[in-house]
Amino acid sequence: MKPKYSIIAPVYNESESLSELYKRITEVMGQTNEEWELILIDDGSSDGSTGAIRELAKADPHIRPVIFARNFGHQIAVTAGLDYSRGDAVVIIDADLQDPPEMILEMIKRWHEGYEVVYAVRADREGETWFKRTTASLFYRIIFKITDVKIPLDTGDFRLLDRKVVNVMNRMREKHRFLRGMAAWVGFKQIGLPYKRAARYAGITKYPFRKMLQLALNAITSFSYFPLQVATYIGFVSAGISIIAIPFVIFERLTGSQAFVGQATTLIAVLFLGGVQLISLGILGEYVGRIYDESKGRPLYIVREEPADFEK
Ligand code: UDP
Ligand code: MG
Repeated sequence: MKPKYSIIAPVYNESESLSELYKRITEVMGQTNEEWELILIDDGSSDGSTGAIRELAKADPHIRPVIFARNFGHQIAVTAGLDYSRGDAVVIIDADLQDPPEMILEMIKRWHEGYEVVYAVRADREGETWFKRTTASLFYRIIFKITDVKIPLDTGDFRLLDRKVVNVMNRMREKHRFLRGMAAWVGFKQIGLPYKRAARYAGITKYPFRKMLQLALNAITSFSYFPLQVATYIGFVSAGISIIAIPFVIFERLTGSQAFVGQATTLIAVLFLGGVQLISLGILGEYVGRIYDESKGRPLYIVREEPADFEK
């Protein structure tokens, strides 16, 4: 039977959290008295999570596993979950229990009130390093400033999406995905619910600095041309300065002044502009690389085992 609710949890080496996640989701969803499914996406785990997911699926038909052929990253794993989801309302949740499953009931209540996107806002974060909290906070604020889409501050992927929203998002097949931005971009009736982000149930973060930076770059390039325009602004400013400075310097030299003798001024100007040009090229490269990825038209992910394989 078609479930009313789909819960999506991406799993990357979370073997220690899985049984607790299953227990708490089952407990919470049992209270809704509706049909539900839990889609566990195994994002190329190597710690036994894959086997654990298979076991859960064999024991309980609520569990629908999607097992990737390799690690594709969190955003792609969630995308696969959205693709396989069948519910009228779809909830995205982290597998490490940093997002309390009990909040799903509150989200469902808001959904019944007519909201089509109910996102959870991190009012407080527990058990995360100073570095993680500061960079995350800065990240949300920079994105908010430079993008045209007003992506709510301090909001992760923990949210409920109406079927209508999921259908629209499933038609957006961009490779470098920033789902919170996409969910804001589509519009619809949205509301935020504050919550306290718990510490990880077990294990360590699967988002090292490198992946966080990649996510930030995807967010910015997906929703803003601002970095491309920076080069134009700097160009106008330096051209403006040179229009004033060049006649001034020529005049000084002709009148016999020694003010601009030597290499220092030349060196400073060349190094500064060289630096600006290289950075601008790099920024251009970020966009061009993404265009190239899109043009290749490869699938977003490769599935080794899908829910149908477990239904026999
Ligand atoms: N995750 C994933 N693929 C990855 C990295 C993370 O599926 O390449 C999952 C991970 O298992 C977890 C969720 O994404 O369920 C969020 O990751 P994590 O908790 O490590 O991020 P943090 O909360 O530290 O930002
Ligand atoms: Mg986490």
